[in-house]
Amino acid sequence: MKQILPDEQAMAVFGAQLAQALRGGGVVFLVGDLGMGKTTLSRGILRGCGHAGSVKSPTYTLVEPYETPQGPVFHFDLYRLSDPEELEYLGIRDYFTEKSLCLVEWPDKGAGMLPAADMEIRLSLHGQGRELTLTAQTPKGQVMVDRLKD
Ligand code: ADP
Ligand code: MG
Repeated sequence: MKQILPDEQAMAVFGAQLAQALRGGGVVFLVGDLGMGKTTLSRGILRGCGHAGSVKSPTYTLVEPYETPQGPVFHFDLYRLSDPEELEYLGIRDYFTEKSLCLVEWPDKGAGMLPAADMEIRLSLHGQGRELTLTAQTPKGQVMVDRLKD
């Protein structure tokens, strides 16, 4: 599934719609270069989950936890991770639970230590805006994509 998002506002709105499809939790990989809108989309998803407060980029903390009306959400940014093994010290197993929604920016940096993604979202430049490509990678991810089409 592809979507053109002409500006930041459109990205946030799409994220909020996506939140409905992600209810129940799962693992979402956010792939794209710096500045492609991964954090903006995550912010939209958190809004859609009913989170009213601010959403900081987890660039330095690696992970920001949220308790939302739609359940626990963990927002990762692994850009600064030097070794996937470091995720062990972060207590990675406690985050990827059945009910939690895990949004992971720079998943490649955690290769070998992360569970498989239910959904992968790729972001790239499209004029002034962005192109988003969304693919289901598990049956659970397929359920999410089907919900988006309703
Ligand atoms: P990333 O987390 O991928 O590094 P950010 O979410 O921090 O990227 O966004 C970087 C910049 O891109 C921000 O200034 C944001 O306003 C802008 N941006 C986000 N989504 C879009 C979009 N769909 N079109 C144009 N600009 C966008
Ligand atoms: Mg970011």
